[in-house]
Amino acid sequence: MQTQTAQQAAEAAMQPTGAIEIDSARLTDELTTLAGFTSIEPSPLGTAVTRVVFSPDDLRARAWLKSLALAEGLAIREDAVGNTFFRLPGSDPDLPAIATGSHIDAIPHAGMYDGTVGVLGGLEAIRAIKRSGVHPRRSIELVLLTSEEPTRFGIGCLGSRLISGTLDPSRADALHGAQRGSEDETLAQVRAAAGFTGPLSSVRLAPGHYHAWVELHIEQGPLLEREGIPLGIVTHIAAPAGYRFTIEGFGGHAGALLMPDRRDALCAAAELILSIERHALATGVIDTVATVGTCDVYPGAVNSVPSRVTLQLDIRDTEPARREGVMQAVRRDIDAIRARRDVRVSEALVNADEPAACSPHIVAVIDEVCRGFGIAPKHMVSRAYHDSLFMAQVAPIAMVFIPCRGGVSHRPDEYAKPADIALGARVLAASLGRLATE
Ligand SMILES: [Zn+2]
Repeated sequence: MQTQTAQQAAEAAMQPTGAIEIDSARLTDELTTLAGFTSIEPSPLGTAVTRVVFSPDDLRARAWLKSLALAEGLAIREDAVGNTFFRLPGSDPDLPAIATGSHIDAIPHAGMYDGTVGVLGGLEAIRAIKRSGVHPRRSIELVLLTSEEPTRFGIGCLGSRLISGTLDPSRADALHGAQRGSEDETLAQVRAAAGFTGPLSSVRLAPGHYHAWVELHIEQGPLLEREGIPLGIVTHIAAPAGYRFTIEGFGGHAGALLMPDRRDALCAAAELILSIERHALATGVIDTVATVGTCDVYPGAVNSVPSRVTLQLDIRDTEPARREGVMQAVRRDIDAIRARRDVRVSEALVNADEPAACSPHIVAVIDEVCRGFGIAPKHMVSRAYHDSLFMAQVAPIAMVFIPCRGGVSHRPDEYAKPADIALGARVLAASLGRLATE
């Protein structure tokens, strides 16, 4: 072992530009260890992980991560919402840093790769940069972002929304628990109990805080695996808008209310759902997706004509104008449905986030790194949203995707190959290292 270490040191010394190598075995071990911080028994589908933000498992996982970072000599800062920053100081520490990161919280019965690959892969990337003997000019930070998943407080990307100023801090502290039985607890109470105090307004970072942000993540879709490409570079992140429609008609006895007299709210809702599908398809662009995922029917009895229906729509696109165009077309149909069926239809905007375009420069740097490693990466759109969507407000961003089996995510059988994870971490490391010299 002694001679090997000496040999490695000699090799590093001979290559001052630094050979970036990932310790794939250690990274796999650490992903497995992190998956052990869970409150659910192993599932027959694979390693089921449940790690809700600020739960005892989340806090144990955070403590373990901090111990790993301390062992690497990284400086640690935690903000008021628990976002945690692990910093490798550069030779010019006053310059805006390069950052990478993701999340470790997991929805109930999730897998062990979503988010965690970006956190532990980011840590391994920083180790690889250190091992390569290169001393970066800009500092490099690994960021663990709080509550990417909406499980506990009903809103996704809590940490990065507060960093970017997308979420009003005074509103955030009053957010209530979204899980059954937790409705009485607020974020203010829960974060204080977890040891994160101070005003949430202090979480915000100024635009330009980072010189560059790169997030490593599993694809959560099937394209890379299907096309046999080991790595993707994200050029755009689609953003969802959420709408709630309430349709009010006229209810009555399923036998007594005659067909010509009906103002059936569910029949009107059915027309609306099909209108949404038709107009999302009509853009002719694969990046437009629209889903009606819930439909509450009142009174919800088999022998009662539906008098009120509530639908929730999730519509996503990489172009906000195209997303709005679909909504305009749907609204014209709503006017027609209203007139024809004599129903009332109201629309409420639940949320609308701006899509993000990745920095062409960072995309080019990652592309060049890939080609240096003999890989032709796929340039692609992220249809799921990530913390990077919000980090785009404080830094030029890009994302690196690695394949996951069958495109499966948010399930215990989520799986990414160790070789693909290691390659993603290696590309991340080389890209961060290169950006840190700018
Ligand atoms: Zn994720």
